[in-house]
Amino acid sequence: MYKLEVYPEKCHGCGNCVVSCPVNARDPNTYGGKGPEDESIVILRVINGVVNIINGDLCGGCGACVESCPVGAIKLVIK
Ligand code: SF4
Ligand code: SF4
Repeated sequence: MYKLEVYPEKCHGCGNCVVSCPVNARDPNTYGGKGPEDESIVILRVINGVVNIINGDLCGGCGACVESCPVGAIKLVIK
């Protein structure tokens, strides 16, 4: 099992991770890096210019968000 970790001090709020996440993408309202409107299905969301983990338990550990981040602000760690 993997656990998501974010490093807000590195994040510049581009939203790449939000739109690359296949779980977030189930909601067609995923756009502009904000993530789904429905908070019950969103894993990552940019709030005030910084990435936040909303529902980390939904993460399947695919790594798309990690790969999409240009500054290394997300990691998957083994729990
Ligand atoms: S590892 Fe995959 S499922 Fe988990 S938040 Fe990142 S993109 Fe989404
Ligand atoms: S964590 Fe990385 S990809 Fe996600 S919004 Fe921040 S800088 Fe962009």
